[in-house]
Amino acid sequence: MQQQFDHFETRATHAGHNPDAASGAVAPPIVLSTTFVREPDGTFPRGYIYTRENNPNREALENHLAQLEGGVGAITFSSGQAAAMSIIHTLSPGDHIIAPSEMYYGVRKIIRSLYGRWGVSADFVDMRDIINVKKAFRPQTRLVWMETPSNPGLHITDIRTVAMLAREHNALSVCDNTWSPLIQRPLELGCDMVIHSSTKYFGGHSDVLGGVVICRDNNGVFEQIHEMQTVGGAVPSPFDCWLLLRSLSSLPHRLRAQYTSAAVLANALQGHRALEAVHYPGLSIHPHHDIARQQMNRFGDGYFGGMLSIQIRGGAAEAMAVAAKVQLFTRATSLGGVESLIEHRASVEGPDTPTPSNLLRLSIGLEHPDDLLADLQQALA
Ligand SMILES: *Cc1c(COP(=O)(O)O)cnc(C)c1O
Repeated sequence: MQQQFDHFETRATHAGHNPDAASGAVAPPIVLSTTFVREPDGTFPRGYIYTRENNPNREALENHLAQLEGGVGAITFSSGQAAAMSIIHTLSPGDHIIAPSEMYYGVRKIIRSLYGRWGVSADFVDMRDIINVKKAFRPQTRLVWMETPSNPGLHITDIRTVAMLAREHNALSVCDNTWSPLIQRPLELGCDMVIHSSTKYFGGHSDVLGGVVICRDNNGVFEQIHEMQTVGGAVPSPFDCWLLLRSLSSLPHRLRAQYTSAAVLANALQGHRALEAVHYPGLSIHPHHDIARQQMNRFGDGYFGGMLSIQIRGGAAEAMAVAAKVQLFTRATSLGGVESLIEHRASVEGPDTPTPSNLLRLSIGLEHPDDLLADLQQALA
């Protein structure tokens, strides 16, 4: 009987990391060649023709990501936004999208500004209440977009129920899982697609931009998105793919530390007199903590992500003052890297943001949680 080595840590270290057949190199070589040799009979026995079509580094990365989310295939892009666009682009003029009222503002912009002009309409509804999702379906609805926990308020959507509603209405469902790698597996809960900005936890070191779509089935949509990649051409470079594959080896260990520290901070900050609210799905006072516990459980118990948001008593000025006083946290946008970040979210989203002006978003890195807590406490004092 073949031994099964199927723990997250073991698979992460070995998937896509076979020694190079030609040289014996243990770290995979980066294949920069844009073109590949053709045999005298005109065939390409190794499967590579031109690097926009496919490349060994991209192939290794995609195989790894497909198994990480439990899909038939992964399709990588040069950014999370390009990945999101490839999904919206499968729609036709006249089609309708249901999306969350709180979501990553860049994807909302794609749906509203870029595709609004191409005749794709959308309703942005508060998906915390399933009734709102049910009421939003129209005969033209073809796609239901979820993001849970949402950016930046950490709203929780019941993935299984929304995916089922989408299926009943002949619409596809997709979940942006950027904030919950390993803990949450939307394809197992019935979603047709998962999307990640791999710029965040997959890259994990704030030094590579990327995105990926992972499909549950090998149906027409997978082919359409694959065509968007190879013909549309927003592909990641071989070096980007190599960096991402390298980072994925340490993903389970990074996440365990980041998820653990985020929970420590959320619990310690809850009830602080300078704070109006702490948003973290791992807190028992989070309004949808029970749903979070049910659907964020694939990496063992008690992990709810590495992101939290706090609302400061007062307004934008008080929030900015706290962000100005931190010494260990870095004031910057983005998330998922080894260094902890703090961000006044409303000011990066612009004037039409629905984000409260007193909200600070925290991405927890790999520093010791006691030091991070001490930094926040001195800034809040
Ligand atoms: C960052 C982010 C994106 C966009 O990805 P880019 O890699 O910046 O293009 C999409 N969704 C979520 C939840 C994100 O955090």
